[in-house]
Amino acid sequence: MKHDLNILQQRWAMALQSAGFGVWDLDPRVGQVHYSPQWKAMLGYASSDEADSTETWRARVHPDDLQAMVEALSDHLEGRSEAYEREFRLRAADGSYRWVLSRGRVVERDTEAVALRMVGTLTDMTDRRNAEALRAERDRAEAASRAKTEFLSRMSHELRTPLNAVLGFAQLLSVRIGSTDIEQQRSYVGSIEKAGWHLLTMINDVLDLSRLESGDLQLQTRPLELVPLLRSVIERMEPVAQDRGVEIRWAAPSPDATVLADPERLTQVFTNLLGNAIKYNREGGAATLAIARRPGAWKISVDDTGIGIPAAQIPHLFEPFNRLGQARPAVDGVGIGLVLSRLLLDRMGGRMRVRSTEGVGSSFEVILPAGKPGDIAHRPSGSGARTGQGARPRPGKSGRGT
Ligand code: ADP
Repeated sequence: MKHDLNILQQRWAMALQSAGFGVWDLDPRVGQVHYSPQWKAMLGYASSDEADSTETWRARVHPDDLQAMVEALSDHLEGRSEAYEREFRLRAADGSYRWVLSRGRVVERDTEAVALRMVGTLTDMTDRRNAEALRAERDRAEAASRAKTEFLSRMSHELRTPLNAVLGFAQLLSVRIGSTDIEQQRSYVGSIEKAGWHLLTMINDVLDLSRLESGDLQLQTRPLELVPLLRSVIERMEPVAQDRGVEIRWAAPSPDATVLADPERLTQVFTNLLGNAIKYNREGGAATLAIARRPGAWKISVDDTGIGIPAAQIPHLFEPFNRLGQARPAVDGVGIGLVLSRLLLDRMGGRMRVRSTEGVGSSFEVILPAGKPGDIAHRPSGSGARTGQGARPRPGKSGRGT
């Protein structure tokens, strides 16, 4: 009988060993664990069969994984779970951490259901984990490369349209040169100029986008007053709004609002948002700017009573060159403004939220960290943001070429 039991035990040990399992055997009452030679070999420890304290076991578990492992173990020991199973990192003899899968069960309890003995296995998952991480990294790189290719092909397509316009109208003009039809010639020149502005905007935006991605775009983030900056954006956009029969409304102009931001880039963001609220509006509609205090931040909303955005299109709002599939020859644009605005806000520690109802209107909310008012250097009253790249003329946003 004893002989049979020994053979059985040896068979189990062989089976576990050849399957790559290490075995542990825990006596929870005294807090001691025995490890099989395979368990020790897996982690590079010497193969003597001395019991270790559970303290030593715990000390080998990665600190970030310890709590979850101990909780899972206690749950099972105290009868709250059917079995114990946990993946975590264990420190090997050479000091490196290895990912292991530990599985076990209580095999003996006393009459009060107190666990007397628990036996389990350990499997080394490091290679599988590394292979998974490599695969995930490769998938990420492939997705990024696909996105770049798609971006380049969209950009080439978008560049071709205004370039064709420049060439086409230039050809028409060259045929008409010397004719007496000055009005016609003026209209051709106007179309060439409009296409030129469109190209310049697109190239500037693409350059900004690539500099933002490569980290080459330097932002001068500092505490600044919101109201003068927003006022200067409104002033600049007023003629475009009047052209389109849209009223700009300015609600709650909290004079004390200060944020941490780069003035030129923030001007660029709000020029784009207010420009969109005007462009994608309707005759007689309104574009409303409002400021509200949030804990440690300011919320600036740009609402419109325009065409709105279909719910299915919202996830595509921040894709470069995606004008949401609506052919709008009457509305000039490139389809990069929102992507740029979101990236710029991100770099300034802010964020953007969008809500929209098709046919009713859209609301773009910007949250920016509050700046300390005392930090603001004295500036002559009424001065808005510096004009620079952020304030560069944009067709359709500055009124030019729309
Ligand atoms: P652009 O205005 O140059 O096309 P944007 O990146 O600013 O590019 O906006 C992307 C698209 O999102 C626009 O083409 C338009 O379809 C949609 N959109 C942006 N703002 C609004 C808005 N306020 N109302 C409705 N649609 C909008």
